[in-house]
Amino acid sequence: MNTPYQHQDLERAIASCSASIAHILDRALAGHTLSAIEGEQLFYTQGKDTQALFQVADLIRQQRCGDQASFVITRNINFTNVCHMGCQFCNFGVSKSDASAEFFGTDEVVRRALEAKQRGATEICVQGGLHPDINADYYRQLLIDVKKAVPDIHIHAFSPFEIWYGARKAKLSYRDYLQELMSLGLASMPGTAAEILDTEVRRQLTKNKLSTEAWVEIIETAHQLGLPTTSTIMYGHVDSPRHWSEHIALLRSIQSQYQGFTEFVPLGFIHYQTPLYLENPDKVRTGPTRDEHFKMHAVARLMLQGSIDNIQASWVKMGPDVASQMLRAGANDLGGTLMNESISRAAGATHGQEIQPEDMVSFIHSAGLDAFQRNTLYQPLRHYPKPAFMPAQLGDIPVRMAV
Ligand code: SF4
Repeated sequence: MNTPYQHQDLERAIASCSASIAHILDRALAGHTLSAIEGEQLFYTQGKDTQALFQVADLIRQQRCGDQASFVITRNINFTNVCHMGCQFCNFGVSKSDASAEFFGTDEVVRRALEAKQRGATEICVQGGLHPDINADYYRQLLIDVKKAVPDIHIHAFSPFEIWYGARKAKLSYRDYLQELMSLGLASMPGTAAEILDTEVRRQLTKNKLSTEAWVEIIETAHQLGLPTTSTIMYGHVDSPRHWSEHIALLRSIQSQYQGFTEFVPLGFIHYQTPLYLENPDKVRTGPTRDEHFKMHAVARLMLQGSIDNIQASWVKMGPDVASQMLRAGANDLGGTLMNESISRAAGATHGQEIQPEDMVSFIHSAGLDAFQRNTLYQPLRHYPKPAFMPAQLGDIPVRMAV
């Protein structure tokens, strides 16, 4: 098979692999679509096989995205932490009577959006718990008020769980509800609440309140209407590599219909303070290992090439240093600067407040890549070439430290 190897060390790395993994990596390099079973095999690699996987992921990242990586200046606005869904993996949602309960009026959301705009944000990312007192008008009014006050900011808002909730409250179909929200200014949606798109796993995580079928239906409806979304996975709890590769293959199959996903964002499970872990410490994992973080981004790059070509490394979940290293294991984006993220911190993550744009640029440069600020839809806004004394060193990748 002819493979577009650009580097002798990559050829050597693949030559030293086991035959079955070398075959899969060859197929990926030739641009073939990997099956979920092949993806699963890649998650189980060890030693030299894993090293070759990371190098192939880095090369395919370079082929698809160039020697550059991106970030977006955005503000997360979590308008309420009150939620009665009781997802086992979450410790963000509290009851209405909890001392820490918060529920912003739309005026506070507008104030934060205005502040974000003044600080250079091109996007606000608005999500909240499923507050029992929210009526369908709250979501509508939020969009109306933000759009009126900050007309040119991109409103990236409402997870599929919130759309499920809002549509029920409004007694509308997903299609009609989404259409209405789009007419009021909704410009894209976070593809969160995906967790693992497998019914058995979801039963353990969320009692399957938002089913796989409902998540897919809401996302497909959004894409049919021309509303872009992100796509996510939350891994490292009661799941396994089979679930991961099947999840990625399902996202790829959705993408083949409408091309509505802007990116894939792996989100490692953070176990601290979550009922899922606290109530079953012997059955629930404490999040992914460092090695699994790298493999998730690398396997996603191989399985999603030509389908979802933006793979985001979440500094909120992994920390900026590890997230930067993902840029040489398949990822090409560091996500948003954030300005107050509270969901991950509520679950015990130590990261998640804010990164300044200049620090995003430094992190990307440290991976040997040019940086650019992008908008929500990955259009470049401002370029930051890496300094001349920092040569791009494809093949000399920091991920070697992770093996
Ligand atoms: S994950 Fe979202 S829907 Fe589930 S309990 Fe937490 S805030 Fe509520």
